[in-house]
Amino acid sequence: MNNERILIAGAGPVGLVAAAHLAHGGVPVTVFEQGSGLSEESRASTFHPPTLDMLDALGAAEPLLAQGLKAPAFQYRSKKHGLLAEFDFSAIADATQHPYRVQCEQSKLTRILYDRMRGHPNFDLQFDSAVAGVEQTASGVAVTVERNGHTERHAGRYLIGADGASSTVRRSLGIEFEGFTWPDRLLVVSTPFDFHSVIPGLTAVNYVADPERWYFLLQIPGLWRVMFLVNEDASDERIQTREFAQSLMAGVVPGISNYDIDHITLYKVHQRVAKTFKLGRAFLAGDAAHINNPLGGMGMNGGIHDAVNLASRLVSVWRGDAPESELDRFDKQRRLVTLEYIQKSTIT
Ligand SMILES: Cc1cc2nc3c(=O)[nH]c(=O)nc-3n(C[C@H](O)[C@H](O)[C@H](O)COP(=O)(O)OP(=O)(O)OC[C@H]3O[C@@H](n4cnc5c(N)ncnc54)[C@H](O)[C@@H]3O)c2cc1C
Repeated sequence: MNNERILIAGAGPVGLVAAAHLAHGGVPVTVFEQGSGLSEESRASTFHPPTLDMLDALGAAEPLLAQGLKAPAFQYRSKKHGLLAEFDFSAIADATQHPYRVQCEQSKLTRILYDRMRGHPNFDLQFDSAVAGVEQTASGVAVTVERNGHTERHAGRYLIGADGASSTVRRSLGIEFEGFTWPDRLLVVSTPFDFHSVIPGLTAVNYVADPERWYFLLQIPGLWRVMFLVNEDASDERIQTREFAQSLMAGVVPGISNYDIDHITLYKVHQRVAKTFKLGRAFLAGDAAHINNPLGGMGMNGGIHDAVNLASRLVSVWRGDAPESELDRFDKQRRLVTLEYIQKSTIT
């Protein structure tokens, strides 16, 4: 069995950051992606300072900033009283090379990483390749991959399951995904309307409190995304109608209604953490390992931190600079951070 590479399931932001880090560290990787190309879903739009520091090491922070918006501050507001507080990232300029958030769709990051890695001798990405099962031995892992109606078997020394919230890798390994799903759903409405023109002093990232219905106002290039929690007893179909979206949008700025709407997307909101992030030679990272409500922008950011933490340890073990036991620390560290910080701060 030729296992002289690391296998990765999923070419989302987490799988591709892990792949880029490993390939640059001298480790050959093969990424299997079930889609016929990179996902076009925009979902995450906020990159936090430490994540930008990590992406910089892969040459991806600058192109991301070039395609996104720099947000040097964010605001807490109330609909009734306006600005309540502003956090200025220059306050942490001594702790990061990037004292700002970047507002940019996650689908731009995956394209930047793929463009940079394509042609690298250690990097191989195979589309239309769904990982369907996992087997392990003492010295390696093997995955079954379904491609164009055929089933193939591929071997590697380790496997990273970065195949998202419904992870086949996690299910194949029999790892429980403990937690719960909120009864509220998250409605994201995007509009080209320029909120700067009607709310003076607004930043690109704004959390707006209101006793009736709070919301977020987030700017990405060319669009604003307004996120509402919806607890009405209404069907998903009804909530995704333009009429319903317009009724919520009409509450954002007094006197303004009938917005130009580009997209209306409804999401279920979950809080779940895998029972372990490591089983034998297989690892879980990103949404495959943990999901949380997206309000603080911690899902993809936390997943990228998983990817860098794990890939750095794998590079050291691959080169013989650290013992295998080094890899156990990935589970200990990242699962603890997920439970103690990300889950706690996104549930309360
Ligand atoms: C509305 C919304 C807003 C959000 N905003 C933010 C934000 O601002 N900041 C933030 O940090 N997070 C945010 N998130 C969360 C963020 O989108 C996710 O945490 C992030 O996408 C996780 O990345 P991932 O690579 O782990 O998984 P994914 O992005 O889901 O990628 C998984 C990849 O694996 C592929 N795949 C799946 N199954 C298989 C298989 N069996 N074989 C091969 N390939 C497979 C999929 O096709 C996909 O390409 C938001 C989420 C939502 C819903």
